Amino acid sequence: MRRAMWMPHTPGVGRPIFAKPHQVRQRRSIAEMRCTVCGEKAPEGDRWWFQLGEVREGWFMTTEAPVHRRCADFALTVCPHLRGQEDRLEPMPGGFSILSSLIGGPAVERDFGFTIRPGERVIGALKIAWKEKFMRRAV
Ligand SMILES: [Zn+2]
Repeated sequence: MRRAMWMPHTPGVGRPIFAKPHQVRQRRSIAEMRCTVCGEKAPEGDRWWFQLGEVREGWFMTTEAPVHRRCADFALTVCPHLRGQEDRLEPMPGGFSILSSLIGGPAVERDFGFTIRPGERVIGALKIAWKEKFMRRAV
C-alpha cells in the first residue's frame, strides 16, 4: 500500500499561493488536461504551458499543468513566479507521458508538517515527461 498526499478541497475558497498549486488541482489539471488557472478543459488547439522543468535520466519533466492562452496571459500579469517568463510560454507539445512523482524530504516537512519515513513511497504531484531528445528547451 502507498500513501498519497491529499489536501482539503474547497474550490473557489481562499487565495492563490503562487508557484505552489493545490495538489488536487495540480493532479486533476494534468490527469484531465485542464487549465491550471481556470480549471476548464484545455483542448489541443488551446493548450499552452510554461516550459519549466528539469531533465532527469533522459526525460524532460515538469509539474507545470496546461493553461489556455488567455489564462497564461493573465497569469503573466499577476503571478510573481511567472512574471518575465513570456519566452517560456508555448503550445504544449504532444507525445508526453504522465508520471506519478514520489515526494519526501525537508520541503514536505516544512510545507505540510508531515514526515515521510526513509523508504516509504508517497505519491505527490503528477509530472508530465517528454523524452529529452524531442524537447527544445528555452534558455
Ligand atoms: Zn483557463
